[in-house]
Amino acid sequence: MTGKRRSSSKKPFCSFCGRDADEAPQMISSPGGVYICLDCIGICQDMLGDDAPGHSADDPDPDAEEGGRGKTKHAIPKLKVPPPAKIKEYLDQYVVGQDQVKKVLAVAVHNHYKRLQHVRATSGDLSSVEIEKSNVLLLGPTGSGKTLMARTLAKCLDVPFAIVDATTLTEAGYVGEDVENIILRLVQAADYDIGRTQIGIIYVDEIDKIARRTENVSITRDVSGEGVQQALLKILEGTVSNVPPKGGRKHPQQDYLQVDTENILFICAGAFVDLDKIVHRRIGQRVLGFKAVGGPDGYIDADDEAILDRAEPEDLLHFGLIPEFIGRLPILTTLRKLTKEDLVAILTTTKNALVKQYQALMAMEGVELLFTDDALEALAEKALAKGTGARGLRTILESVMLDMMYDIPSKRDVVSCTINAPAVKGEGEPVLQRRRRKAKEAS
Ligand code: ADP
Repeated sequence: MTGKRRSSSKKPFCSFCGRDADEAPQMISSPGGVYICLDCIGICQDMLGDDAPGHSADDPDPDAEEGGRGKTKHAIPKLKVPPPAKIKEYLDQYVVGQDQVKKVLAVAVHNHYKRLQHVRATSGDLSSVEIEKSNVLLLGPTGSGKTLMARTLAKCLDVPFAIVDATTLTEAGYVGEDVENIILRLVQAADYDIGRTQIGIIYVDEIDKIARRTENVSITRDVSGEGVQQALLKILEGTVSNVPPKGGRKHPQQDYLQVDTENILFICAGAFVDLDKIVHRRIGQRVLGFKAVGGPDGYIDADDEAILDRAEPEDLLHFGLIPEFIGRLPILTTLRKLTKEDLVAILTTTKNALVKQYQALMAMEGVELLFTDDALEALAEKALAKGTGARGLRTILESVMLDMMYDIPSKRDVVSCTINAPAVKGEGEPVLQRRRRKAKEAS
């Protein structure tokens, strides 16, 4: 385009978008009378990417304006990074047991964010030692607290958090856009603040379901799992992802948001059913001869729970994860199946414990809600029988409480309600204490 003014207007206008000085933000003129507006300069920068003059991917500008267009133009937000012991203390308030996992995660997360703050403070000067980020792989049965742990960590650090399910990627595993949608979730969690998105945590659930299965384990799987792993690998490693801001705020001049995933912490998790057999097989072969051999398959008769603690990258490889993918998840830690005592503690001791929640609800009706010890144990036993860890507790408690929650608001004379074991087991009724008669009776 030429720099000639539009004949209809005497005002200078941008030679690229045609808007005049009233419509376009700030303009720069060339000696030849050609103008370019600030928006079009931004678009040119986008188009040139890394080749833009003065741009270097290794030289992030910590003072750059948020919402800027360059791929590293988003400042790393300032964060308070508590020491690992404080992070663990925070986790203890919400998550029961899993001490070792808490420790491992507290250290990993502390190091990750300390490293980021260092980059921030030194304007990206990592000349001495370059510390790589450490994505995490959590193994553990369903309902043992994997998601809760990751969510609580994000809350502790006050960073955006998104949960994605790896199985949703299976069908379109080879299509890049799906993987970008993972980032979009985080962008949304950060309320479209790209700077904060880039330091968020993404929890990828069911990661074991995208394993490539060539081994003899019962389930037959399609091979697309490998494609999904490849696609995920890119964002795990760190790439500038072009995220379509679907349904988001208006971004004039932009068709997509550029999010650098380099500093996003990925916590991948899965139950990894049958991984124990793989570990057994490996260890069994090695210790055969000096340790008792037992079990139906001739493997060593080890504690099934502890066996996953001994899982190594080669076991994950046998499970069906590709080597590059395993390499990007250097921190591997295992959650234990929750015991009856853990489940009772989950019901009563954590900050948002279910029993406390119901007690608060009943208190609003002026009723004191009590649980006998054997009632709590009965609830835990029911949940154990379900085999879904703590996940089942809420449903079980909900059904036990349903009649009470239905009746009590219309029974104005009830002052307390005691849930006992028979009430939990469906063999009796909760004990109600009424104001006037002051006699205990079944409701
Ligand atoms: P998963 O391991 O399958 O990701 P979740 O973290 O989603 O399990 O747990 C499901 C629910 O069970 C959570 O909402 C939480 O209330 C409860 N829960 C599970 N494990 C624990 C735990 N260790 N401590 C406290 N609550 C837990």
